[in-house]
Amino acid sequence: MFDDNYQFSVVDRFIKYAKIDTKSDEESEVTPSTPIQFDLAKLLVEELKELGLTDAEVDDKCYVMATLPSNTDKDVPVIGFVSHVDTSPAVSGTNVNPQIHKNYQGGDIEIGAGKVIDAANNPELKDMIGMDIITTDGTTLLGADDKAGIAEIMDALQYLKAHPEVKHGTIKIGYTPDEEIGRGANHFNVEKFGAKFAYTIDGSTLGEVETETFSADAVEINFIGINVHPGYAKDKMVNSLKVASHFINSLPKDGLAPEKTSGREGYVHPVSVNGNAEKTVVRMIIRDFIDAKLEEFENILDELCKATVAAYPGSSYEFKVIQQYRNMKNILDQHPEVENNALESLKRLGIKPIQSAIRGGTDGSRLSFMGLPTPNLFAGGHNFHAYTEYVAVQDMQASVKNIVTLVQVWEENA
Ligand SMILES: [Zn+2]
Repeated sequence: MFDDNYQFSVVDRFIKYAKIDTKSDEESEVTPSTPIQFDLAKLLVEELKELGLTDAEVDDKCYVMATLPSNTDKDVPVIGFVSHVDTSPAVSGTNVNPQIHKNYQGGDIEIGAGKVIDAANNPELKDMIGMDIITTDGTTLLGADDKAGIAEIMDALQYLKAHPEVKHGTIKIGYTPDEEIGRGANHFNVEKFGAKFAYTIDGSTLGEVETETFSADAVEINFIGINVHPGYAKDKMVNSLKVASHFINSLPKDGLAPEKTSGREGYVHPVSVNGNAEKTVVRMIIRDFIDAKLEEFENILDELCKATVAAYPGSSYEFKVIQQYRNMKNILDQHPEVENNALESLKRLGIKPIQSAIRGGTDGSRLSFMGLPTPNLFAGGHNFHAYTEYVAVQDMQASVKNIVTLVQVWEENA
């Protein structure tokens, strides 16, 4: 049972972390992509040490790792909790000024700078009547993605320190840089981390347990034409730009495209076209939740390429598939206890589970294939990467309870 008299620290921690600018930068080629991410990482190391995690340290790539030793005689699998210190480069993260709107009574929330969180486009708000909602002042992002997750993990550690009677196995903490630019797993040392399973605390709505991501390939198609001086090109030139245009125009229009699909539907999506009369390169991304579907879609594209060059005699094409990442469900299905224990924790807390499939990849999906099965749990934030980002105090507290309860479930089931 969670101690109902516990004084949460999650809000104070969150506001402190939110005020530290940790924006990552996709243009950068080094890790961390911005040195400012160390500002938060170093603070977290100090705080982890204060919480009794004496081995806490940040490495030269800005990965924070720490260990809370086991306090049970049982042989419990080592569990990790992972969040990211950086915020999205899409919106400014400088001088974040969090506001708490106490006891929300429904309707739109005016946050300042002419920005409004409107109830019509934020259906989650109707479940937040009476809650205290943290927003920005309208001039920056909030960074609940993922500083809410970090604050929740830290408060859970504080709770465990205050409640030594709560039994748990060894717990590993990992805070990564550069998740928002897709590089959070790049330098994550799974072996050094030493956990058997982990959870990213980086989801959104209360109750989310995400065990599925897209499987992803990229496809690169080179259309090759015949280039001749345009003054003397009659009946000789085959312009590869026109061949590529024909191909793109032949892509399915009623489905199989990001703008026409949702839920569990996959798609094919041209992301860039570069070329000249001689040669044009079309780059595409292919997404579905089922690996075999990727192959099916790639065959459809290959057939369209064949039909295209047939319409432009003299042209040819080269077709290359580049594997990107795979649905982490492939891995997590081999370790059902990881998801089951997360569901058990929610059940004990009376939280309705939301088991959605992520239409993208996560660091957890990469970590899962690096040997650390890692589903994603809710952290409570909404409207990520936007001025209208918000998080409810009570949802952050629910996440603290969830982390504490989850480590107990692992101990009891061991
Ligand atoms: Zn995130």
